[in-house]
Amino acid sequence: MTVPPDYEPQPEAGLPPRVEIYEVGPRDGLQNESAVVPADVKAEFVRRLAAAGLRAVETTSFVHPRWVPQLADAAEVLALLGPLPGVRLPVLVPNERGLDRALEAGVREIAVFGSATETFARRNLNRTVAESLEMFAPVVARARGEGLGVRAYLSMCFGDPWEGSVPVTQVVDVAGRLLALGTTELSLGDTIGVATPGHVTALVGALDDAGITTDRLAVHFHDTYGQALANTLTALRCGVTTVDAAAGGLGGCPFARSATGNLATEDLVWLLHGLGIETGVDLPALVRTSRWMAEHLGRPSPSRVVQALTHDPAEE
Ligand code: MG
Repeated sequence: MTVPPDYEPQPEAGLPPRVEIYEVGPRDGLQNESAVVPADVKAEFVRRLAAAGLRAVETTSFVHPRWVPQLADAAEVLALLGPLPGVRLPVLVPNERGLDRALEAGVREIAVFGSATETFARRNLNRTVAESLEMFAPVVARARGEGLGVRAYLSMCFGDPWEGSVPVTQVVDVAGRLLALGTTELSLGDTIGVATPGHVTALVGALDDAGITTDRLAVHFHDTYGQALANTLTALRCGVTTVDAAAGGLGGCPFARSATGNLATEDLVWLLHGLGIETGVDLPALVRTSRWMAEHLGRPSPSRVVQALTHDPAEE
């Protein structure tokens, strides 16, 4: 593998000195891959991501195995992994049964997965938006009572494959109701990757007007239409400092026949380091990890940075 040349960063005024990368590859990535990875490989993946410097790695999901067979081994993965000092290992929890299983496994941080649109709530959760919030309420209350951090994902914030554009007022409304349950962080998802920077500025501004400030926000962009980094930079300029990404761009896109779904962590790190923004991530170690996982999945990483650092022009 090519070692990245030592290019000098060029900072830009107004951007944060440090960004927290919230790694979603083992959960959001692997749940959307067709290949099923053995539990010991999943645990090793999380260990390698932590060793590459990632400090928040969403590890698995306690969604019923009927819905997400790829992550049916959640308890086994956590048992194989054990605690990793200094690394947050949140898991996705859909309901109280999932919370019970997560607590039994010693989890200290969870995430719930809501929808900004009625159609996706119905299709993904088999509930209305209001009914899904009712389902989350006791989960969040009990988790907070146990001292757990609770992140809320809000999907379809910018566009929905059935409803088209999603009104900003609708997103702000559901966001406020999720935070009112007691969730500690809200991740704004562009689940189908259609947003462009103006949409990001408008939504973050409208949330701020409603009293939902950027210190409680994360952004979760998909690169389906090649907009993830443009949208990320826009979010940083708006004051957001937590960005979700999946190592190697794992996950594909469940709503489009595209190999490109989640923003690749390597592509994000290249942008941030080029701007002189600290992440704590060792990029070559991360690229090696994604190439290792790509071998297990039997498909190359769609990440541009993984590809660029894999082909050494000096050797061709
Ligand atoms: Mg995603």
